[in-house]
Amino acid sequence: MCEEEQPQPQPPSQSQPQPQSPSRRGVLRWGAVAAAVPAAAGVAALAWPTGASGASAGQASAVGGAFYRTAPGDTLRGIAARFLGSEERWSELYQLNRKALGRETAPRPGLQLALPESPNGARSRAYAPLPATARPLPVPAEGYRLDRIGDALYAVTAGGTQAAFLVTDAGVVVVDAPPSLAEALPAAIRRVTGRKVTHLVYSHDHADHTANAAAFGDVVRIAHTATAERIKANQDPGRPMPTVTFTDRYRLDVGGQRLLLSYPGANHEAGNILIHAPRQRAAMMVDVVMPGWAPFRAWGTADSVPGVLRAHDQLARMDIDTYIGGHVHRLGTKEDVEVSREFVQDLWKETGKAIAGTDMGPFFGKVEAGNNWAGFDLYLQAVADKVEPVVHRKWLGRLGAVDVFTRENALTVALSQIVDAPRDL
Ligand SMILES: [Zn+2]
Repeated sequence: MCEEEQPQPQPPSQSQPQPQSPSRRGVLRWGAVAAAVPAAAGVAALAWPTGASGASAGQASAVGGAFYRTAPGDTLRGIAARFLGSEERWSELYQLNRKALGRETAPRPGLQLALPESPNGARSRAYAPLPATARPLPVPAEGYRLDRIGDALYAVTAGGTQAAFLVTDAGVVVVDAPPSLAEALPAAIRRVTGRKVTHLVYSHDHADHTANAAAFGDVVRIAHTATAERIKANQDPGRPMPTVTFTDRYRLDVGGQRLLLSYPGANHEAGNILIHAPRQRAAMMVDVVMPGWAPFRAWGTADSVPGVLRAHDQLARMDIDTYIGGHVHRLGTKEDVEVSREFVQDLWKETGKAIAGTDMGPFFGKVEAGNNWAGFDLYLQAVADKVEPVVHRKWLGRLGAVDVFTRENALTVALSQIVDAPRDL
């Protein structure tokens, strides 16, 4: 963040405002609520609303500690469907929060509802059920899924991680070497061909996709220069240095097969490349599109938040049938790429609207003078308060885990819009 972008903090107002919630964090744990309530009267604005709270904290913690703070448009049936797995369980919510709800049939926004324990005595299931397109697929007896794409490209998936290999007349080209596929990937290759692995492509540097690369021995290893720099810095013997690097494009022709490697600029990670198998009408780009899923936290742990949007644009322009994303439970399609693009663009747009409609200055008057972090946090949380319910309303049920990281991703995107401030998006 640049100094000049810091807003000028304002002195705290003499008459303290009524306590109000700095954020509606969705599901809250009692510990988090306790930590958020400051002891000092000078920062009373940070305290949770007492009047709006349904169960007292003491009551609520006795039932397992999970809370949900209601958003505009919420219904008890809707909340029950999201967090308890069935809208028919709305009456349990009602019984537990009777006092707070009074005679209301629809909870008013900002109400803190305690969630009941699940029948097996564990804490309430605090996440929305996965839509069918995001659920795991059956795993065969071998312990991994092996998908054939076109004549010679294969994807291996197990435990939510994915790698690929291309069988050529001169040997096998492996793309990535995830430690979690240490046994499955070589086993899948042996199942398909007796040929040796001759080449390894690093999609990017991250260990969950590459830290088993050394197991393939002395092969040609290809990576983007930025990936090579990171591999060098990280000094992991499981990720030996690439033998071939490129900055923009690289054409890999081996034994009658072709992979086109290209770099759209920093995205999920600096050096994360797009791998195109033209003959198989397939593209692999790891950790950008998660077929059927909303992005992982911190915008999919993005080195460049705008770069993730640009990578989506690039993927959407490709003439492909199959997309290999490196995670979740299945291969993707062109449509998965388009839906993911629609989601990231939507979250980006809604965040922009929320920023435009939220005045930053007043938040700095609610905290101790000079505590710029706190003022900025209140502001970002207020932005996320606006984004989260809109995105939930539009996307829950359409992509998996929309309720898990959307709030955090709104915070990440808000910061990016302020400090990256791209003009092309
Ligand atoms: Zn990664």
